[in-house]
Amino acid sequence: MSCEEGKGLVKDSRSDPTLGMDPFEDTLRRLREAFSSGLTRPAEFRAAQLKALGSFLQDNRELLHQALAQDLGKSVAESEMSEIITTKGEIDWALRYLRSWMKDEKVSKNLATQLDSAFIRKEPFGLVLIIAPWNYPLNLTLVPLVGALAAGNCVVLKPSEISQSSEKVLAEVLPRYLDQSCFAVVLGGPEETGRLLEHKFDYIFFTGSPRVGKIVMTAASKHLTPVTLELGGKNPCYVDDDCDPQTVANRVAFFRYFNAGQTCVAPDYVLCSPETQERLLPALQNAITRFYGEDPRSSPDLGRIINEKHFQRLRGLLGCGRVAIGGQSDESERYIAPTVLVDVQDAEPVMQEEIFGPILPIMNVRGLDEAIDVINRREKPLALYAFSNSSQVVKQALARTSSGIFGGNKGFFHVTLPTMPLGGVGHSGMGGYHGKFSFDTFSHHRSCLLSCAGLEKLNDITYPPYPNWKQKVINYILSPPSCTIL
Ligand code: NAD
Repeated sequence: MSCEEGKGLVKDSRSDPTLGMDPFEDTLRRLREAFSSGLTRPAEFRAAQLKALGSFLQDNRELLHQALAQDLGKSVAESEMSEIITTKGEIDWALRYLRSWMKDEKVSKNLATQLDSAFIRKEPFGLVLIIAPWNYPLNLTLVPLVGALAAGNCVVLKPSEISQSSEKVLAEVLPRYLDQSCFAVVLGGPEETGRLLEHKFDYIFFTGSPRVGKIVMTAASKHLTPVTLELGGKNPCYVDDDCDPQTVANRVAFFRYFNAGQTCVAPDYVLCSPETQERLLPALQNAITRFYGEDPRSSPDLGRIINEKHFQRLRGLLGCGRVAIGGQSDESERYIAPTVLVDVQDAEPVMQEEIFGPILPIMNVRGLDEAIDVINRREKPLALYAFSNSSQVVKQALARTSSGIFGGNKGFFHVTLPTMPLGGVGHSGMGGYHGKFSFDTFSHHRSCLLSCAGLEKLNDITYPPYPNWKQKVINYILSPPSCTIL
């Protein structure tokens, strides 16, 4: 692996026979030096980087559309909706609020600190590593990058090697826009990333599977590096008996089959009664035909499976339960039809592993209580959805379960809001980002208390010895602030 100094890119070692002992050392040293110089701290520098990232999206729109089409068969509309507009929105939001996010946050004080200045400073961690997956290869790489740059860090970006065309654009074009002394793209798969993770970073932001999340966390623990883990899992979708079937079918089909189902927050399986299932099936068929036509294979709006390995995995899942809708596949195109499975059993692979494809199993339950039992027996999901005309049912589903995000009669659009964190809980991850949550994720919150050098007499009360009267005074002046005194 060779490092192109000044190009912001560490070349891929997968095909490089001249492997050095440590291909990352020079790049990481360069970035650390840039951070130590203070280059990334001023608001003007951060804003300039964010604007440059916006220009990258704007100038290369067509190239990005092409790359996404090659990787995932994404239509321009899907690419815009889920990759470009959302990322641009995050950039604009960060630019709008950057200066207010950077401000020291004054805090209320107790009596013992009344004369001091107490505040929280948001300082950059230093050198951060962002590792991204393939399913939204721009969004899930660049949205964390917005937070890391806004917070004033130097960044190593590791896109997924699986979404090859997008990886190429990120590696070859993006570094031309950002300051190359504090930004680098590193290419590689599991082996190279494993070697990269041997290095010390000040923060690691990982998006991917729980399996690799554990590898990343283990590597981070060797350096006590803090991590955000944005992981996946099986997202339940409860459908109550009183729902209008067509409304539910439209909403569920839209976000189950978007990006050919390769979406971390998509509903992974439906829980409903057998009666609701009977009403839902024709409605789902209706929605699929309306969205993708009689022959979904020829629809320009339906994506393709990312690679052969995932195609074969998904084709295997089509054997679970009984196919009620779809079920067709074509290996030459990595096409899998929008599919609904019924009569699936809890122990079958389709109900055990994250599906991550255009397949929707329906499992029967007798009602909300049983659905909640099924949900709570499993790992905490990234997303949980409940559909009902009764707000009480939706509120119960919310109150009696836990998940990274929750949708009542709605899905998917959380990710378009910079005002809400996207993140998992338990097995679906830790930490969150988007908007100010990204800025906070990539900032160390440093508690600062500044006192004057004089007035030493005032401190006497806290020093030993501690007669009774002194203890009483100390208890009083150290008690938490009873009202906000800034
Ligand atoms: P993955 O875990 O296989 O790979 C993610 C990244 O880790 C890639 O950049 C890859 O190169 C790297 N990697 C893979 N194996 C590694 C190893 N052994 N050591 C070090 N690095 C390694 O995930 P994926 O297949 O790219 O993405 C799909 C998964 O990501 C799904 O589980 C999905 O739910 C999850 N996901 C989560 C979110 C979220 O926001 N929570 C978003 C998208 C995807």
